Amino acid sequence: MSKVKYYYDSDTLSYRKIERKKTRTVKYMSLFILASAIFAFLFVFIASQYIESPREKGLKHELQNAQFQLELLNKKMDETETVLANIADRDNNIYRLYFEANPIPDEQRKAGFGGINRYKNLEGFDNSKLIIQSHKRLDQLQKQLVVQSKSLDEITKLAEEKEKLLTAIPAIQPVNNEDLTRMASGYGIRTDPFTKARKMHWGMDFTAPRGTPIYATGDGVVIRADNGSAGYGNHVRIDHGYGYISLYAHMYKYNVKKNQRVKRGDIIGFVGSTGRSEAPHLHYEIFKDEQRINPLNFYYGSLSAEEFNKLLEHASLENQSLD
Ligand SMILES: [Zn+2]
Repeated sequence: MSKVKYYYDSDTLSYRKIERKKTRTVKYMSLFILASAIFAFLFVFIASQYIESPREKGLKHELQNAQFQLELLNKKMDETETVLANIADRDNNIYRLYFEANPIPDEQRKAGFGGINRYKNLEGFDNSKLIIQSHKRLDQLQKQLVVQSKSLDEITKLAEEKEKLLTAIPAIQPVNNEDLTRMASGYGIRTDPFTKARKMHWGMDFTAPRGTPIYATGDGVVIRADNGSAGYGNHVRIDHGYGYISLYAHMYKYNVKKNQRVKRGDIIGFVGSTGRSEAPHLHYEIFKDEQRINPLNFYYGSLSAEEFNKLLEHASLENQSLD
C-alpha cells in the first residue's frame, strides 16, 4: 500500500488527499532513465579505455606473435647472409682466382637499388620499420644470389675452357719410361755429337731402341709429318692450340698424316735415327708462341716425384746430346 498524503484545506475545513499529477511522474521517470543511460554509457566508454575486450586481447596477442616471428626471420636472414658472404669469399679468393677471373668487388655484390623509394607503401604503420628493414634485407640477399649465380656460370665456362687447355697442352713424356735405355740429354748448352762444339740443345733426347712407340703429348692437329726439315729427319709437329706446338724428330717412321687430329697418348711414330742423329733416340721440342721452351716443365701430370727428380737430374747433366 502506498502512502496516501493529506493536506488541510482551510476553505472547506477538511482534510483532502494530495493528488500527484500522472504527467509529472512520467517526467521524473524519463529523466531517471536518461540519466542512468548517460551514466552507463560514460562508464562503459571510460572502462573500455583501460580494460581490454577479449577480442582486443586476441588481436594484440596475434600482433605480438607476428612481430616475434618477423624478428626470428631476421635472425635467419643473419645466418643466410653469413653463409652467402662465405660463398662470395670463396668465389673471389679460390674459384675466380684459380680460373684467372677478376674478383667481383664487394660494392658490386652488395649494390642496392637506386632511384625510387620501393618501400613507400609499407610506411605509416607501427611496425613499418621492422617490415621495411626485412624487405630491404631480403631484396639485397636476392640480388647477391643473382650476382653469385652469374659468377658461377662464368666459372663453369672458364673451367670448361681450362679443361680443353689442359688436354691440349703437351703434358706427358713422349716415350714410356720402361722403354728408355737412358735419358741422354736435356735442354740447354750441350756438346754437339758431330762437331764437339758447345752449343744450345733446343730439346730433350730420349734414348730408346729403334721402333719404340712415340706418343702425342697433348690433343692437337698434325701440321707436319715429313722429312723436309734439315737435320730432323722423319719428324712430326703437332699444333695444340693456345700457342703450343710439339716436335718429334729422328723417327724411324711416322704413323700420322698432315691435318690429322690426334689425342694425347696416340702413337704418332717410332724411335729411329734419321736426320742428324748419332744413335736411335727421340729428339723432342716444345714451342710456345714460336719460342722453344724447356720440355722438362711439362711432365708434371704423368711422372711421380721420384721419376721427375731422376729426369731432372739427367736432363741437367751437361753431357753430349744426340741431337
Ligand atoms: Zn736432341
